[in-house]
Amino acid sequence: MGYNKRYIKIALDEIIAKGNRAEAFYEKQKQEIFAREPRLKEIEQQFMQIGSFLGLSALSGNNDRITAMQTKFDQLLKEKQALMEKTGLKEYKPFCSKCKDKGYVGAKLCECVLKRAKELSFAELSATMPIEESRFETFSLDYYSGENKKAMEKVLESLKEYAKNLNPKSKSLLLFGQTGLGKTHLSLAIAGAALEKGLGVVYSPVQNLIQKLEKEHFSYNSDTPILDDVLECDLLILDDLGTEFSTAYAQSLIYNIINSRLLSSKPTIISTNLEMEEIAAKYHNRVASRIIGNYDLKKFCGSDVRQLKKIESFKRGKNND
Ligand SMILES: [Zn+2]
Repeated sequence: MGYNKRYIKIALDEIIAKGNRAEAFYEKQKQEIFAREPRLKEIEQQFMQIGSFLGLSALSGNNDRITAMQTKFDQLLKEKQALMEKTGLKEYKPFCSKCKDKGYVGAKLCECVLKRAKELSFAELSATMPIEESRFETFSLDYYSGENKKAMEKVLESLKEYAKNLNPKSKSLLLFGQTGLGKTHLSLAIAGAALEKGLGVVYSPVQNLIQKLEKEHFSYNSDTPILDDVLECDLLILDDLGTEFSTAYAQSLIYNIINSRLLSSKPTIISTNLEMEEIAAKYHNRVASRIIGNYDLKKFCGSDVRQLKKIESFKRGKNND
């Protein structure tokens, strides 16, 4: 389905409104200039007459008249161009030459809409998460050593490969391991790659998402746009499973999200500090069994990278004294 419907709608409305504003502004300018140069208005009217004449003559096949009219048309065009140059008025140019700012080419959404939807998706995600900084290229293995480094090299490679081949039917992933090992960084890198590809991504810390869904569920509105996005998006990324308040509602919601997305073969990426037994204990065996049976499990190993980075920058600060 590509970008979330919400973004497509915003992008489409924006592009059409921008085109309409520009065209209205141009029309106003044109009318002012026509008032000063009435000849331009006359030419435009003659163009219309010639146009309808040519339309009719094409059926009758009167070739001499057609040629004469075409010659007249060319003369008028030249005259119009000269006058336009004098007044400084240019022909109206839409922002998008493909869809003429209508948002569609035939029945298909124009690429200008998709491009704008992509910008909106990035903007929304980067407002809350450091998506620009969290790319594969900025992920450093320098903070890992020995066996951990080897294991993390493999994880990194497999996730790069996953991102490269990512599609709306990709497998789901569980990124697990202690805190501060880069799970969020790499899941954001995958989110960035997905957005680049034009896929619709929903990324959220589990805690925030549960709160939003709870609010939506208990509001008097029958529309559930957030839940629809979560269930239908091309890629759902749930960050930090296990840190949310554990309520019966949250537990059933998480099960339903995981289960519905598996049933519709849509990829979900979950990151968590919990071990599998803890997931089973916290959410119910059925959540753990869905994950074990259907997700690719990626274990993150090493010492807390955030701590190591802090120590290093602290040392650097000292050396600079
Ligand atoms: Zn367009």
